Amino acid sequence: MTHSTPSLAGKTALVTGSTSGIGLGIAKKLAAQGANIMLNGFGEYQSAMNEIAAMGVQVDYHGADMSKPSDIEDLMAATAKRFGQCDILVNNAGIQHVATVQDFPTERWDAIIAINLSSAFHTSRLALPSMQASNWGRIINIASVHGLVGSAQKSAYVAAKHGIVGLTKVTALENATTGVTCNAICPGWVLTPLVQKQVDARAASLGVSNEEAKRGLLAEKEPSMQFTTPEELGDLAVFLCGPASGNIRGVSWQMDGGWSAQ
Ligand code: NAD
Repeated sequence: MTHSTPSLAGKTALVTGSTSGIGLGIAKKLAAQGANIMLNGFGEYQSAMNEIAAMGVQVDYHGADMSKPSDIEDLMAATAKRFGQCDILVNNAGIQHVATVQDFPTERWDAIIAINLSSAFHTSRLALPSMQASNWGRIINIASVHGLVGSAQKSAYVAAKHGIVGLTKVTALENATTGVTCNAICPGWVLTPLVQKQVDARAASLGVSNEEAKRGLLAEKEPSMQFTTPEELGDLAVFLCGPASGNIRGVSWQMDGGWSAQ
């Protein structure tokens, strides 16, 4: 049997918000291709560190609060110090809050814009100089189907996600003649802690079971009636880092079971 070198061996990937859900799924898929990993997020991280280290790559963790530009500066400096530079940047950290515009708490609005949108500006502005110097880099912004269409009660989230789709295009254009690409991934429903909260709220308000609440959520929006998985999203991220993707620039790629095709 022949063993090929993992495609991302020697590269370093920073995945923000990678202690659970989509970020962790992407971090594990990048590690499986040989990338060293900087984890970030507020959740328990030791088991993720152990799992990724067992894949034979180097892994570290930084607890930056992605709503704070000074924390982000520290995260980027720590990544460069630990690994040399950040070759693959996955802007994934995100939160949700559900309320009508007139009832939306202003503090939640500010937090969602800071974490889901502005953090990607700060990480990108700090990662780009070394990516440009080495003429290779991948910035992958985890947007959402809500970067392309709206849903009631999600004003801040939809505004932030439309914003990150725009940031993706501009970052891609500014680097279009280089080896640095920037693209967005737009998932539909993924059954992570962020969505389980919405399933729980639906089950409570309609007085239905967890399973019924999940089916209802899918039936409203996602024709496939299936959740996208963090593993599928990780495989798309790996593809966007690979050799065939060098001229994919500024794309927002749905993985939404047909949600936005309607
Ligand atoms: P999740 O709640 O499982 O994970 C979010 C991660 O972000 C966690 O690691 C959390 O600790 C971290 N985080 C939250 N606030 C942070 C902060 N201030 N600083 C640093 N880290 C912070 O959620 P998820 O569903 O995996 O979401 C990940 C991304 O995917 C988000 O940007 C979300 O908008 C996007 N997304 C999710 C879905 C879905 O259906 N779950 C769909 C489309 C897009």
